Amino acid sequence: MKSLFTDHLPVKVLKPKDAKEVQKIIKKANKDKTPLVPTSSGTNMQDTHLPNVKDAVMVDLSGMKGIYFDKLNRNAVVEPGVTFAELEKVCKKAGLRPLTAIDVPKDASVLSTYLEMMPLYDWPKYHPWEMLTMEGYRADGERFATGQMAMEQDRPDKYSWGVSFAQVARLFCLAQGTLGIITKVAVTLKTDVPKKDVLYYSCRNINQAAKALKAFIATEEPHEIFAVNKKYLSELLNQKLSVSVAPWTVVIVNRGSDKAEIAYKRKDMLGVAKQLGGKIQTSLKGASKASDTILAEIKSPTGAALHKKVGMGWAPIVTVSTAQQIDKCSGLVPKSSGAIIMPLQAGGCFYYQPDLRYRESEIEKVRKTYKSICTKMLKAGVTFPRPSALIAKEVAKQNPTNFKLLRSIKKAVDPNNIMNPGKLGL
Ligand SMILES: Cc1cc2nc3c(=O)[nH]c(=O)nc-3n(C[C@H](O)[C@H](O)[C@H](O)COP(=O)(O)OP(=O)(O)OC[C@H]3O[C@@H](n4cnc5c(N)ncnc54)[C@H](O)[C@@H]3O)c2cc1C
Repeated sequence: MKSLFTDHLPVKVLKPKDAKEVQKIIKKANKDKTPLVPTSSGTNMQDTHLPNVKDAVMVDLSGMKGIYFDKLNRNAVVEPGVTFAELEKVCKKAGLRPLTAIDVPKDASVLSTYLEMMPLYDWPKYHPWEMLTMEGYRADGERFATGQMAMEQDRPDKYSWGVSFAQVARLFCLAQGTLGIITKVAVTLKTDVPKKDVLYYSCRNINQAAKALKAFIATEEPHEIFAVNKKYLSELLNQKLSVSVAPWTVVIVNRGSDKAEIAYKRKDMLGVAKQLGGKIQTSLKGASKASDTILAEIKSPTGAALHKKVGMGWAPIVTVSTAQQIDKCSGLVPKSSGAIIMPLQAGGCFYYQPDLRYRESEIEKVRKTYKSICTKMLKAGVTFPRPSALIAKEVAKQNPTNFKLLRSIKKAVDPNNIMNPGKLGL
């Protein structure tokens, strides 16, 4: 199937076995002036693993599968090829769990998903601090690392701390691999506590859902909390929903080590709901297995297959928006769209992901619709932190100062512009 986001395919694929081979590939590409596109799992969302330019060589890192599991400190150091399913298997024995991302499937790379800042279900609870330190090679072939990984690695357990950890890492990740190739990253793991309670709060519209998310998250209790429209919810549960299910539903997952913890958290949610003038439900009418299905999805997301039908495409529009911007823009997408919102920074802003459904034979038409909606959203002030190839230029134009700064950094570490040319992260 033709990509919605790019017309280019790599001319060649190289499969390095280890970090040293990655460095060699980058050095040679600098000599030959060959564009490189790193790919860790290529699960194809927004096709960011495909080139935006012709004659590019793909650096396929999926064979690099090293895991150093640190049960004591509840962390792991992973190479790019390690998938969520593989990390979960290692964690399970120790009663731990990796943090998963909305709509990113279990065969996706943990490293590139975190690097790309894909929104994790647990961000409202733990914030975007899932990466501790990392190591890789800059676009000019020089080694680069953060925190303790930047020091001599004479012991495998010497990886986790460092003042420069998250900040420097984010600079790299938001450039979508345009500044270098990351070869290992230390990630945090969480205890898989035994008790879980899934609660629902019905809303008439998206504005009410945003307000409710902000109120519930102020308690800092939910582990996972998001709101979905009826279309998204029906796909999440893989069933048709009763007419009594509201247009928007806030889904709250409380986790705890015993019944008492779950009980007081539920009581707090009931209190917030009362203040909002609504009610908490513990089940959804006509969907008896809803809570189990939602917990299973959070544990092991299905990926795009959740939303796709045969012959149809699914294109999420990925934004960070304020409640006011969501209010202004939610009417831009067709009524048939699915949508999910998740509070970030205590509900000061939201991860807002409406989507487009289209016939696979109508790529050109949907490209126009996608661009037109995104341009209007951009004008309304919505942020596209990692714009797809279709709108990268528009986003750069909208953020000239940021773009100029990023370009100057890129020029310094990638003088030959060989790494992921044409991609943009702000
Ligand atoms: C709902 C949803 C929304 C999404 N929205 C966006 C979006 O707004 N913008 C966006 O860009 N992507 C988006 N994605 C894609 C997402 O980032 C990837 O699906 C995820 O990171 C898993 O990666 P992958 O398997 O698709 O591709 P990968 O092959 O892992 O590549 C992902 C990106 O990271 C780069 N990369 C891969 N490995 C490395 C490495 N070791 N070092 C440095 N760079 C590397 C690639 O060149 C590519 O740009 C979205 C995905 C979903 C499911």
